[in-house]
Amino acid sequence: MSRVEGKVAMVTGGSRGIGRAICLELARRGALVLVNYLQNEAAAAEVVAAIGAAGGEAAALQADVSEAEQVAALFKRVTREHGALDILVNNAGITRDNVIMLMKPADFDIVQATNLRSCWLCCKAAARMMMRKRSGSIINITSVVGIAGNGGQTNYAASKAGIIGLTKSLAKELAPRGVRVNAVAPGFVETDMTADLATEIKAAATAAIPLGRMGAPEDIAKSVAFLASADAAYMTGQTLVVDGGMLM
Ligand code: NAP
Repeated sequence: MSRVEGKVAMVTGGSRGIGRAICLELARRGALVLVNYLQNEAAAAEVVAAIGAAGGEAAALQADVSEAEQVAALFKRVTREHGALDILVNNAGITRDNVIMLMKPADFDIVQATNLRSCWLCCKAAARMMMRKRSGSIINITSVVGIAGNGGQTNYAASKAGIIGLTKSLAKELAPRGVRVNAVAPGFVETDMTADLATEIKAAATAAIPLGRMGAPEDIAKSVAFLASADAAYMTGQTLVVDGGMLM
């Protein structure tokens, strides 16, 4: 198991779903974990308690990571309380699906702000502290939809494709400073985000997955933890697809 002993990690949107699993996995592998959330304080507290019960260390940090001022305040607090981040996972994300004829500009804007702008803002803040240390690992959560596209998700797919371009560009910028930047592209994962999909849509999507099941948040978390660790020391600018073979 790739360890991240003694590292300070922050996961945006760590209160639920894939982010929650990433928090638990990084803590299990030895990191102190900062659990960012938007509004679900109880869920974030539950993640912190679960990590504590397993003998790990964690704290919850509220911030809307799509807002520049809130991100600045968040990173100020991280610096004050924990020094610097070693690992940043940009996981916060939302969907506002619709066919383009019915999609409102506001549905486009909020998805770009929550998924892509937040990633850029947090990368910028983390890059400053990681460049100073000449080490660090950033993992951005994209989606197979950002690679393959998906009808009804023009806004979401654009944000996730943007994350892949951001990841490669920042990887090139930061490699000479010893900082690695990678992305993980989950396929179809069982979380609140996919919970409301119609049974027929879920059945059709699952039928298209060679490994024959939807992903569990833990499947994604293990790949993120690997990229965060020194076992991935020679990997940067990559998009690791974790989708049960759906995309191939
Ligand atoms: P989820 O269960 O809906 O959880 C979303 C998380 O994001 C929550 O912790 C939420 O916080 C947080 N969040 C939302 N807006 C935020 C903001 N402005 N600032 C800070 N935190 C915010 O989602 P998920 O399915 O785990 O998805 C996690 C990531 O994986 C997303 O980037 C998603 O696009 C990506 N992904 C998911 C799938 C899938 O099938 N589920 C597939 C591919 C990619 P609160 O709890 O406070 O609301």
